Amino acid sequence: MAESSSYPSGEISQSPVITVVAIEDGLDEPKSFYIHQSLLRNKSRYFSKALDSCQNATPESHVITTTFADWQFQYFVNWLYYGESRDSSNVVCWEFCGLWGLATELEAPLFQNAIVDWCQGLKFDKCFIHMFYDFDDGNHDRTKLATYIRNKVGYEIVAHGWTRFIETAESLWEDITRTSFLHPGLPLLLRLMAEVDIATELLKTVKLSDPAETKDCSFHTHTDEDKKQCPRYKSSE
Ligand SMILES: [Zn+2]
Repeated sequence: MAESSSYPSGEISQSPVITVVAIEDGLDEPKSFYIHQSLLRNKSRYFSKALDSCQNATPESHVITTTFADWQFQYFVNWLYYGESRDSSNVVCWEFCGLWGLATELEAPLFQNAIVDWCQGLKFDKCFIHMFYDFDDGNHDRTKLATYIRNKVGYEIVAHGWTRFIETAESLWEDITRTSFLHPGLPLLLRLMAEVDIATELLKTVKLSDPAETKDCSFHTHTDEDKKQCPRYKSSE
């Protein structure tokens, strides 16, 4: 269900339309997107700065070239116009790393929050477990999305047992236990065990709950100002 406030308001629909050209390292044919300027400015500091830097152009003549893949950018555009629910069931595990990178480069924290919300809808399977080490690379491990993924893995092991986890991981279990998957300074298996310890402690205090069921802003990043725009924040007030 898209939030009605996510649809273009009169102010947005009267704002000039900007052409954004997405090019993925010169590999694909460039794809053009036509987006209202006020949406780009409000939801992405990257575009806000880019638009400021070409003030002498007429509003309609801006063409901003990005190096993002068009399929990634399409998710961003859908989110801009239709809100966080539009693609909630469409994104698959292997796309999350790239989408998070896009949201980081666009300096779009509200889009990052939507990505975590989408991740909460994923089934816990081998592909999900793969994200555990996709996000354990020193670049992503401090992000809210990585926190969610780690918490979910810890919860699944404690709530449903190691046997089920190892069966779900299939061949990945061997990878996790091999030394080739080393985090700088800390083997992946130890990080996994640390998450299990946290979940076990929560279980002792009967506070263990499925992170996928969390419907507040626990895995969001907000400023005081932008949290007022978050549908979850509004509903938890
Ligand atoms: Zn929020």
